[in-house]
Amino acid sequence: MPTHAKEADPALRVKVLESILTEKGLIDPKALDALVDTFEHKIGPRNGARVVAKAWVDPAYRQRLLTDGTAAIKELGYSGLQGEDMVVLENTDEVHNMVVCTLCSCYPWPTLGLPPVWYKSAPYRARVVADPRGVLAEFGVTIPETTEVRVWDTTAELRYLVLPKRPEGTDGLSEEQLAALVTRDSMIGVGVLAAAA
Ligand code: FE
Repeated sequence: MPTHAKEADPALRVKVLESILTEKGLIDPKALDALVDTFEHKIGPRNGARVVAKAWVDPAYRQRLLTDGTAAIKELGYSGLQGEDMVVLENTDEVHNMVVCTLCSCYPWPTLGLPPVWYKSAPYRARVVADPRGVLAEFGVTIPETTEVRVWDTTAELRYLVLPKRPEGTDGLSEEQLAALVTRDSMIGVGVLAAAA
């Protein structure tokens, strides 16, 4: 049963393991950083981006995604640890959704990879609830006053994925081209996608 990850112990264990393996010359910390970076920025969020792009071009898929996120995401082959119970939140002109885990750092690994450092930070976790628009401003995002901002606190069981609004001027793009436009931050709700040039 998925629970909030107990952060302190695994983080400490990983550090200890990394130190020992480095000391013994078995791993290169730089290579490790590169690997983490790849999962954090490249591989991970690209999965979520494909889910988003498919939802934009396929109304039936979008409907399945909003009704049963876990099953619809699994259709594309993304499932597993920390993605067992997925809820997809659609951003519209009426509602802007953003996601936090106030208790620790729960995050949908199969669709977004590893959580960014700021997502795990105490200031983000505390402030996003008290002042969501202030936090958005720090990410360079301004949501119109007429749009309701909703903050979703990840629970022990659920992981959220935001379905960002499709940018204007992208009618002619293929699903693959659309996926390339989707940013990690837009799927956490701290980013919005700019209109295509
Ligand atoms: Fe958590």
